[in-house]
Amino acid sequence: MSMYEDFLKSAYVRRLPSGVENEPVNEKKKTKHKKPKEAFNQPPCDESPERMETLKNMLKESQIGRETLEFLKEKGSKLIFEKIDKVYGYFSPDKNIVALNPQFSDEDLAITFVHEVRHARQDSIMKNLDPEMKPDTMLKNGFMIEADACATECVLAHQMIEKGDFSIFEKHQKTPYAGMTTAFEKEFDKSKDWNKARDAAFMEWFNLRVKPGYAQQYVDFMGEIAKESIKQKEEDGCFIKDIDIKQMAKKLCINSKGECYIQNPKKLESPEKLNISEKQAAALVQGLRTFMSKLKRSPECMGMDNIYVKHADGTYTTVHEERKKINVNAALQSMTKGKGDNGR
Ligand SMILES: [Zn+2]
Repeated sequence: MSMYEDFLKSAYVRRLPSGVENEPVNEKKKTKHKKPKEAFNQPPCDESPERMETLKNMLKESQIGRETLEFLKEKGSKLIFEKIDKVYGYFSPDKNIVALNPQFSDEDLAITFVHEVRHARQDSIMKNLDPEMKPDTMLKNGFMIEADACATECVLAHQMIEKGDFSIFEKHQKTPYAGMTTAFEKEFDKSKDWNKARDAAFMEWFNLRVKPGYAQQYVDFMGEIAKESIKQKEEDGCFIKDIDIKQMAKKLCINSKGECYIQNPKKLESPEKLNISEKQAAALVQGLRTFMSKLKRSPECMGMDNIYVKHADGTYTTVHEERKKINVNAALQSMTKGKGDNGR
């Protein structure tokens, strides 16, 4: 439970206005010092029930907004204002609340609302975080739920455009997620097909510069599971479950009619989509090492040859291959060290 709460704190916090929380620390610092003026241009903070009503009425303009409000009602979840440091909002399945930060604009909050409630919906279908999932499945699932929640924002933006209101779209275009609304509109223009447009937005998520930040959260989380499960002697039940990607997409990536909008779910297992960085691969190998040797789990049964590693030159290997390299290097290092000592 505490592990889950910890993860929620880090992963389900909403992105910052600049989207920088998922970027390297030095980037973060740069942005922080850039525009001190912006702090003074914040809209006055209104937490009144009237504002909540205005926000709900704005959402009711779109079909996705109405559906989202309806879902929240059915689930008995509460929608509240909460000033959360530098975060748009969050969803907490334990407390059954969706919190929105009143310090941001109505457009920001409308976007956040559909995003966070989409997570609530996903969680009601399939646990958003399940330590039973094998590492490759967990990563696939993690990417899927985030890309899906972000693609839902694009549906909201488009439905508002159809009502003649461009404010959500324009706001979205100023975020690091802009590529997704662009991909949605481009595809919709071409095919006039909602599912294809939503799929295009979804697939674009994997090209965003914030994506590695999400991968990092899952790498960290898997390391936590490995460590905690050994401590609590619950390791047998961890990292054992496979879920077929088509089934996963069919359950999670659905439109309001219940149809899966993903055109080709198998794509999500490709190197271009299911990848982490070299550093993350090393951290994953390190994080799972004790667990794997204690439980005698092979890299294959941990799904390590299904997770790809993206290299700077554009090539891909697998985590399994990286693991071998790391092991060989470690062996070589201890050999030369041994030799040096003996030669003296
Ligand atoms: Zn999210």
